[in-house]
Amino acid sequence: MGILKGLKEFGLKPKTMPITSGDGHGTKCENCAELLMKKTLDDNLGVCPHCDYHHKVSARRRIEITLDENSFEERYSNIISKDPLKFKALKTYDEKINRYRKLTGEPDALVCGVGAIEGRKVAIAASDGFFAQGSMGAVMGEKIVRVIEDAIKERLPVIIVSGTGGGARMEEGLFSLMQMTKTCTALGKLHDAKLPFISICTKLTMAGVWASWAAIGDIIIAEPKAIIGFTGARVIEQTIHQELPEGFQTSEFLLEHGQIDKIVHRRGMHSAIDKILEYLCEPIATQ
Ligand SMILES: [Zn+2]
Repeated sequence: MGILKGLKEFGLKPKTMPITSGDGHGTKCENCAELLMKKTLDDNLGVCPHCDYHHKVSARRRIEITLDENSFEERYSNIISKDPLKFKALKTYDEKINRYRKLTGEPDALVCGVGAIEGRKVAIAASDGFFAQGSMGAVMGEKIVRVIEDAIKERLPVIIVSGTGGGARMEEGLFSLMQMTKTCTALGKLHDAKLPFISICTKLTMAGVWASWAAIGDIIIAEPKAIIGFTGARVIEQTIHQELPEGFQTSEFLLEHGQIDKIVHRRGMHSAIDKILEYLCEPIATQ
């Protein structure tokens, strides 16, 4: 693919992303403002022990939380976006993207590969809200498609986590928008191959991500109080000049109205996926 080039040229090393900003060991809950030790919050998978608010976590942490310990094998980490449109606003796209690379140690906003859940091999991808708000550009689309193609070849279920953010990356213009069709086409092939796709939505799962792969899971799971939708509530209200119902676009609202299948606490995600895969997949072969 012409707009992609190798990771090694950038000398990047993925690092553990702090789940909250600020120096030192302490932080505040983004919801209830209680003071917390960063380690306590991290040990609690990014969930506030006081109010149960699910904080944003990096893609790598998300994969770690979801899979069996040390089972993840990363794939396609060498795919990096160029700047096909030579986009420039206040900063150039290259400058912006390099800043996110330095911040996260990731080449782009998605990490993918294969791993296991209770011994069952799965293909997995997670977007990273710390990298350009988890927006989907050519790299995210390409990596999702490649990991789905691997899943079809290896007969694996697919799990994709929308890890906070979403949208199409405007700096890549149509290269970004075409990823919506491209990812859905790949998921169509997965469906034809009779392999399940579990979509996991977190706060926020919006716009181009929700309008493509995130919304077409065979099973769609959301974290509690996630915000999921195409356009933000404020923009909708300003456009239609009507007040929106209480809780609009929350997981709880969407579950009640049939747009998602299940709400699962982050601590229960691993076992919930395991149960679903037990229903949907062949039993794990025993030796
Ligand atoms: Zn809290």
